[in-house]
Amino acid sequence: MTQNKRAPRIKKPQQQARKHDPEQIRMQKKIGIAVLGGGPAGVATATGLVRLGYFVTLFAAPRHFAALESVSEHVAEGLRQLGLTEALATLSAPSPRRFFWHGQEDAHQEERLVYRPDFDAALLRDARRLGVRVEEAEVKSWQPDGRRLTVKVQLPHGGGVRSLHTDFVVEARGRTAPFPHHVTGRRRGAETMSLLQYWHPGAATGNEHPGSAVQSFADGWVWFARGANGRVYSQLTLDVEQTQLPSKAHLNKFCRGYLKRLEISREFIKGATPVDLPYPRASTSVLTYDMADEKSLRVGDAAVAGDPLPGNGILLALSTALQASAVIHTQLRFPERAVLAQEFHRQRLSDLFYRFARTGRDFYAKETHWPETAFWQTRHHWPDAEPLYPPTTPQTVDITYLPVLAGDEIIETEVVATPEHPLGIWQVDGVEVAPLLRLARSAKSEAGARHALSGLLNHSSQHAAQWLFWLQEQGWLADFE
Ligand SMILES: Cc1cc2nc3c(=O)[nH]c(=O)nc-3n(C[C@H](O)[C@H](O)[C@H](O)COP(=O)(O)OP(=O)(O)OC[C@H]3O[C@@H](n4cnc5c(N)ncnc54)[C@H](O)[C@@H]3O)c2cc1C
Repeated sequence: MTQNKRAPRIKKPQQQARKHDPEQIRMQKKIGIAVLGGGPAGVATATGLVRLGYFVTLFAAPRHFAALESVSEHVAEGLRQLGLTEALATLSAPSPRRFFWHGQEDAHQEERLVYRPDFDAALLRDARRLGVRVEEAEVKSWQPDGRRLTVKVQLPHGGGVRSLHTDFVVEARGRTAPFPHHVTGRRRGAETMSLLQYWHPGAATGNEHPGSAVQSFADGWVWFARGANGRVYSQLTLDVEQTQLPSKAHLNKFCRGYLKRLEISREFIKGATPVDLPYPRASTSVLTYDMADEKSLRVGDAAVAGDPLPGNGILLALSTALQASAVIHTQLRFPERAVLAQEFHRQRLSDLFYRFARTGRDFYAKETHWPETAFWQTRHHWPDAEPLYPPTTPQTVDITYLPVLAGDEIIETEVVATPEHPLGIWQVDGVEVAPLLRLARSAKSEAGARHALSGLLNHSSQHAAQWLFWLQEQGWLADFE
């Protein structure tokens, strides 16, 4: 739920979602849920479901590459809140990220570097500690089997194939999650790939502090990062259709061809030698439309995978997972609201996808040096021309019924929908805003509106005045005559 930080502080209303009684928890323990994939989305969803009392088995196979990524403080905070403390402990201390974009060096941002092999292993330890049954096995397939589902997995070290019967499947295998024929469509951004590479440090350049830098060039952009151990990593991002990748044997030379022309390369890889071959990783933005049905739900990159430029993938994965356990719980416990819960999941993830995609578009559009190259042309305009923050006027604000997250459930309730928040704002600081707006709108004068609102707010004229001011500040309320 979107919250406005300037909202007046008011006592929260009673929790609207039902509390779970021990009998309900006992019943839920009998419901089996299989989570396929042990990245941030899979682990956050699995631990959320265990907290709700379900019996969760998570199947995890390791990735084939050792990426370095970076995250903001929001991710650190999210991991802390979810109790994923071992994963949190693997994040590096904050270090600066610089942008060399449109020929200028932009203000520094802070980020934390994430060495994914350590982070992913820690996520699995967190999952086990929080009560998830983790099986290190590769998922081969899953399909309906009467009223239940069968998941087939390949056990490691030649352990053969095993089948598990389950009641619900969470698809969290990231970008490699299969796209079964019953799933009806996807929206893809410009086809993009990133070439990842580690380097043995070369001669000292006088700037060996941890940190990273992004630089744009005619055919794409590069991200260099140096960890606290001095190890350097490069990630070269290019357009797939515009790039002819050479054979494996010539990949190093191919990457160097780009990197040697960029000033920031000197700072990171002067005299350095590459470790192994560059690893090509697909990085196209993908939104899977059909991400929820009555027995399965896609989360994380398997549902919405974003462009790597804003570096928001782990945040997006955790956000999708945070709501997923409530969506699944509603589907399993309150089948009369199953379709509503699925719709909520689709709408929220699609909204997040477009917000991140438009943020990326606006950032790409700041680089105007190479308007003729395919890389920049396509990314300046994708996904659409809609503004990231559409203007709000009282005429564009509606009071309507939409699905919302209420505690551990999805319910339908009255919300305020605005162009910026088309999925609706239900509560701000625990106060339902739709009834406030309706009352304020029906008043003939400002004094009348204050009086009407105070009736809803424990007869506090001070709170009524604060809320009225807040509604006007949002642009939801027309001026009184
Ligand atoms: C080039 C690039 C750079 C990026 N940089 C950043 C960044 O700097 N910051 C950021 O926040 N995000 C970044 N991202 C995005 C980030 O990696 C993802 O968004 C995030 O990891 C998604 O989490 P997930 O749990 O959905 O999927 P994943 O993290 O991909 O997890 C899926 C898991 O499922 C496992 N799996 C796959 N197949 C099977 C199978 N058959 N059986 C069992 N397990 C399986 C995988 O091994 C993996 O552990 C980047 C992405 C790309 C492509």
